[in-house]
Formats: sequence, structure tokens, C-alpha cells
Amino acid sequence: LIRPAPRPPRARGVPHPPYENPAMSTIAHLINGEIVFRSGRTTAVYNPALGAAIRQVELADASTVQQAIEAAQAAFPAWRNTPPAKRAQVMFRFKQLLEANKDKIAALISEEHGKTLEDALGELQRGIENVEYACGAPELLKGEYNRNVGPAIDSWSDFQPLGVVAGITPFNFPAMVPLWMYPLAIVCGNCFILKPSERDPSSTLLIAELLHEAGLPKGVLNVVNGDKAAVDALIEAPEVKAISFVGSTPIAEYIYREANKHGKRVQALGGAKNHAVVLPDADLDNAVNALMGAAYGSCGERCMAISVVVAVGDQVADALIERLVPKIQALKIGAGTACGLDMGPLVSAAARDKVKGYIDAGVAQGARLVVDGRQRVVPGCEDGYFVGGTLFDQVTPQMSIYQEEIFGPVLCVVRAASLEQAMQLINDHEYGNGTCLFTRDGEAARLFCDEIEVGMVGVNVPLPVPVSYHSFGGWKRSLFGDLHAYGPDGVRFYTKRKTITQRWPQRASHEAAQFAFPSNG
Ligand code: NAD
Repeated sequence: LIRPAPRPPRARGVPHPPYENPAMSTIAHLINGEIVFRSGRTTAVYNPALGAAIRQVELADASTVQQAIEAAQAAFPAWRNTPPAKRAQVMFRFKQLLEANKDKIAALISEEHGKTLEDALGELQRGIENVEYACGAPELLKGEYNRNVGPAIDSWSDFQPLGVVAGITPFNFPAMVPLWMYPLAIVCGNCFILKPSERDPSSTLLIAELLHEAGLPKGVLNVVNGDKAAVDALIEAPEVKAISFVGSTPIAEYIYREANKHGKRVQALGGAKNHAVVLPDADLDNAVNALMGAAYGSCGERCMAISVVVAVGDQVADALIERLVPKIQALKIGAGTACGLDMGPLVSAAARDKVKGYIDAGVAQGARLVVDGRQRVVPGCEDGYFVGGTLFDQVTPQMSIYQEEIFGPVLCVVRAASLEQAMQLINDHEYGNGTCLFTRDGEAARLFCDEIEVGMVGVNVPLPVPVSYHSFGGWKRSLFGDLHAYGPDGVRFYTKRKTITQRWPQRASHEAAQFAFPSNG
């Protein structure tokens, strides 16, 4: 890669030059409200539909991260004391700018990630809903108050910001997952450093620029692009008080452990293996349509994707497969930036090879390969990272395609004899992000919701991603930490509680020393 000369900072809100300019150029950092180029390491950013590098992104070193931390620290005192209603006003303008620029943002997501434009618009809309929630800052930060907790004593709890906090995000939702984090952290009075995925950084950076255009003071949000070096610098910096992470389980576990060691508050959301259970009384046609979207949408690169169907009874399994096969074969696959498609490519050559490797392993381990997507070629995109929709039957819990997160368009059918057996499978799995039951039986649904060891549960809802005023989080090895992402848990995560107990004695009163522990007894 030839690195062109650094470009001068450009007007905010304008799409990145490389989007309009075929010459390879470099995505830089956004620090203290300015685009910052540092001539350090870079890595290529690809268009996965073409299998070609289209630009490069800078990889921050520790000194660049430190520059962002210093900008955030300098901005904190004034931002902390800015009334929440004024902070919220920035978010109202931000929401409008996101809506006005949605097509531009979706095009960048689609170009670098590969997902379809419709899917990119969907993720952006869910991100905007998090901005809408953050617009409620004055209400969210109201605190709690009690009068007369003792004689003439009043008490209240405040939710105060932590200071400088950081977020580290995955490639698969370059718009939505950062928007889970910083709008809420910022309206709570914190200053934020975002380390997005280095694989598709352009839409994330454009969105951060729009927030500045909405009136965010410099230094309140900083974006440093990078890899492990930048992440480790954030973990080690004593000025960073909390880290939100979303990504794969091994990295989530690493970040949780290391950031804890450095005394930080951490929420680290990890990978998944989401099961759907189909009971004999389910509306099979609806279940199949729901499964198609949940398994193959975004090429299976969603942490809430359904990757296992547990069919209760052989009749259900056979009927499901019969209906799924023609639909999988008819999936419209192509470059995500084209319209009207069901599925784009995987994000990288490595992801494609990994998914194909799992399909090979499934065959070798004895699963029945019903639809094979390995040879799928898209005319005009012969070098793209495509894998077609794939379906396995007769999958057992011992197989790697069952145990591990494939993160591709591969659906595994497991056959179970009863709902209880299906639930046992799910409860025994190391992941517990999402799950769904298809049924018309209310009693079965209630049992499932009560007893299943999973954080987000759907009943006839295949992707039960909580809305912005609930919180998002899995159980078991899908989340390390105590608080889930965004919503009410997000407010708790990004604030610390201070409880004030206050008494103003009447001037004339005189009280003797009390040596017993104060109580209302
Ligand atoms: P990833 O773990 O490879 O990367 C996530 C982030 O961590 C990126 O910013 C990356 O730069 C950084 N990173 C990567 N390796 C690192 C290392 N060794 N040390 C420090 N930082 C490192 O994940 P990904 O491939 O970008 O995203 C896909 C994964 O994310 C899947 O496992 C998916 O299930 C998961 N995910 C989970 C959720 C959730 O809410 N639970 C949501 C989206 C994605």
C-alpha cells in the first residue's frame, strides 16, 4: 500500500474522500474535534464484495491514545457541569443529522462490511433509537430523593459521571454498537474514547463527525483507530475509568480480566451460539421465514443470529428442512451495495476461509450437509468473500459446528425428543446470548422463559434484540461483567452513585453527643 500525503482536514459531514475518490487514502483519528493524521502503522480496509483493498486506516500507538485521553480529560470539567438538558439538545440535533445522512452512512457500512443497504439502514435505525433514549438525559439522571429519612434529615442519591470512559467495538455493527455506548455515556456527563473495528472504520468516523456538527464540544468524543496496541493503551491508562467492549468471547474475556486488574469498571460482551427451538404446534411457515432472516441476514455475522435450530420431533425436523431448502437455494446474494439482495459477502478472506473450514469440519464429523454454500460464486464479484447459505442436518452436541461460533451463513439442525431436552441443550451450551421458541403453547413458552439460561429470549420473535429503553446482554460466556449494554443498565454503568444525607438543625436546637449508631429505632 502506498500511503498518500496527509490530506488537510476537511469540512465535517462530508463523506470521506476515498468514498468519492478512487485513489487509496487513509482513515485517520478524530481527536479534540480534529481529524488527526499520524504517520504510523496502517492496515488495509477492504471492499469484501470485490475482495480488494479500497483504503487504509491508521493504527494508533500509545502516544496517539494518550493524546485522545488528554483531550477527553481537558473537556471533562466543563462537560460534567453542562446541564443534562443542554447535553440532550446536542443529541436531538445529532439524531436529525443521522437521519439526514442515513443513505451516505449506509453506503459506507455496506461498502466496507458487505451487508446489504437495507440491513445497514436497519442497524443505523437501531443506533438512532439509542440516541433518542439518550435525549432523555434530564429524566434519566433525576436521581432518587427522600425527605425525613431521620428527624429533619433529607437524603438523595445523585448519578455522577465517571470521567473519561472508553468503548471498543466489533466490525459487524460499525454504526449501531458505538451508538449503544457513547451517546448515553456522554449525556451522563462523561468524555469518551472510541476504538472502533479497524476492518470497517469509515461510517463510524463519519457518524462521530456528525456529532461534532451537532454541537458537541471538542474533546468530549474522540475516535482512535487501531488494533491491540490501542486497546492495551486504553486498558493501562489510569485516566480511563471504565471500558465497554463488544466483540468475540476470547477478547471480551481478556479485556474484562486486564481492565479489572487496572481497577476499571468493565462490561465486555462476547460471542454467541443462538438456538431456536421449534415445537410441533408452531406455525411452521412463519417459523421458516423467521429462521431465514435470523440465520442468513447479514451473512450470519450477527451476535444474535440464529445458528442452531432444535426441532422437537423428527416430523418437525423433516418439515422444516423441506421448507428451508428451496428458500436457501433462492437466496439473492451479491455486493451489499446493490439493491434488493438478501445477503452480501463475509467481511474478509479470513472470515470466508474460517466459515468454509467449519463446513469441511461438519462434513468430516458426520453431519449431513443438506445445502452447501462453499462453491457459491457471484458473477461480477468473482474475487469477493462470498459463501452461500448452508444447511446441516443431524448435528450433534459433540461437533465443532455445534459448539463454536461460526459467524457465517450456516444453520445447523439438531433433533430433540422433547422441549425439556431442547432446553437442556441450550442450558448446557457455553454461550447464552439469545434464543427463541416457536410455538402456539403459552404454557411451554412460559416454562421456556422461566428456565432458559440465556439473557435475551424471544417467543415467536427470532431476533429478540432489546429496544433502546431495555438493556442488551447475554448470560454465561456471552457477557463478562454485571451490567448489560445501553438502556437503564447503560445509565448505571456510565455513572457512579453518590448518596447525600443532609440536615440543617434549627438555630435554637442543641443536641447532646450520641454514641449509639444512628437509627430510627
Ligand atoms: P473481535 O473480538 O475480533 O474484535 C472486537 C474489537 O476488539 C475490535 O475493535 C478489535 O480491534 C479488538 N481486538 C481484536 N483483537 C484484539 C486483541 N488481541 N487485543 C485487544 N483488542 C483486540 O470481534 P469482531 O470479529 O470484530 O466481531 C465479531 C464478534 O463480536 C463475534 O464473536 C460476535 O458474536 C461478537 N459480537 C457480540 C455482540 C454482543 O452484543 N454480544 C455484538 C456484536 C458482535
